[in-house]
Amino acid sequence: MDMANSKTTRLYYEDSHKIYFTARILDCRTNPRDGKTWETILDQTAFYPEGGGQPADHGLLCGIPVIDVKERDGEVLHITLSSLEIGKEIEGCIDWNRRLSLMQQHTGEHILSGIVHKLFGYENVGFHMGADGVTVDFNGEIFPEDIPKLERLSNQTIWADLPVIADYPPEEARNQMQYRSKKELTGPVRIVTIEDIDVCACCGVHTRRTGEVGALKIVSCQKHKGGVRLTVQMGMGALEHYGKLLDSAAQISNLLSAKQSEIAPAVERLQEEAASLRQKLAQTRKEAFEARASVLPNGQQVLFLMEAPGLSPAELRQYCSILCGKAKAAAVFSGDDSQGYKYAFGSTDIDIRSYGKALNSALQGRGGGAADLVQGSVAADAEKIQDFFRSLEIKE
Ligand SMILES: [Zn+2]
Repeated sequence: MDMANSKTTRLYYEDSHKIYFTARILDCRTNPRDGKTWETILDQTAFYPEGGGQPADHGLLCGIPVIDVKERDGEVLHITLSSLEIGKEIEGCIDWNRRLSLMQQHTGEHILSGIVHKLFGYENVGFHMGADGVTVDFNGEIFPEDIPKLERLSNQTIWADLPVIADYPPEEARNQMQYRSKKELTGPVRIVTIEDIDVCACCGVHTRRTGEVGALKIVSCQKHKGGVRLTVQMGMGALEHYGKLLDSAAQISNLLSAKQSEIAPAVERLQEEAASLRQKLAQTRKEAFEARASVLPNGQQVLFLMEAPGLSPAELRQYCSILCGKAKAAAVFSGDDSQGYKYAFGSTDIDIRSYGKALNSALQGRGGGAADLVQGSVAADAEKIQDFFRSLEIKE
C-alpha cells in the first residue's frame, strides 16, 4: 500500500467507528474501463477500499450511493453511478451495518488464526469474506474433534473483551517481533495486536475490542489443498445463520408433524417407510409385467413391445428379462417420437451384443451391455423402430 503520495486522509484508520464525515471533492472522473461509473477522490474519507481480504464499504456521498471503493496507485476511489462536483464540500456516511459485520468477520478471523497458530503452528494461507460467512484456509490438518476447543478459546477471547491495537512500530523494534504476515514487508508496516492471542501485519479495519465480535461459530471443516478450510460465522453473521437454521428446522418440524428435537428420528421413520413402499412397488410391478407377458404367444423369434413413456431403465430391464423367457430374443421400448425412446434388448439363448450394435447404428442409438442384455436410447421414431424389428433376423 502506497499511502505516502495519497491525497486522502484515511479516517477509518484513525477511528474505525466513524460513520459520518465531511470532505472536499478533489477529483471526479469517468471510469475509463467502463465509461459508465464515476471515480471520486476526496481529501479525507471513512470509506474503506477493498483490500487485505476485506470487502469495500458501501454508503452515501451527499446522498449518492457509493457502490464500491477501490484503491489504485495509492488513491482511494469512490465508485458512483453519477458525477460529483469537484471542489464542493460534502457529507458522507458509510453503511454501518455492513462495516460492523465486516469488522466482526475480520477481527474474528484474527482471533481464530492467532489461536490456530499458537496451538498448531499453522499459517492462515487464504481468507475470503462472502455472503455465506468467512472461509479461512490453514496449511495443516485440523480434525473435527479439534473444533470445539478452537471455538471455546475463540469465544473466551471475545468475551474477555481485549483491546485490538493497530500501530506502526519502528523497523528495529519490528525486526525483533514475532508476527504473522503473508508476505515480506518493507517500509512502515501496520501491526494489529490482540495481546497473548495474535500479532499480525494487516491493513484492514477492526473492532475496537474483541467483545464487539459478538460470537464465533465454525460451521464446517473440510480438507483443502493438503490443509484445511474452515467456514466460520461471526457476530451478526452468526446470529443470521442461526436464524436461518431455526427457520428451516421449524419448517421441517411442521412438515413432519414432529417436535424440533425429534426431527431426525422422524426422518429415519420416513426413510424406512419409503424403502418398504419401494419394495412393495417393485413386487407389484414384477407381477404386472408377468401378467402382461403371460398373454403373449410363446416361441417367437423376436418379441418386440412398444410401451408408453415413463419406464425407468431398471423397469425396462426387468420387463425385458421376463419377456426373454418367451422368445429367442426380446426388446422393450419406452418413450415417444418427440422425446425419443429408451430400450432394453436381451436374450437367454444368444449373445445379443452384435444385434444391439446393429440396432444403435440403424436407429441413431447409443448404449451397450452384457451378452444377455443391452440397454440404451435411440433418436428414431416409432415407425423406424418397428421397421427395424420387422426385418430383423436372429441367426442360430
Ligand atoms: Zn486485520
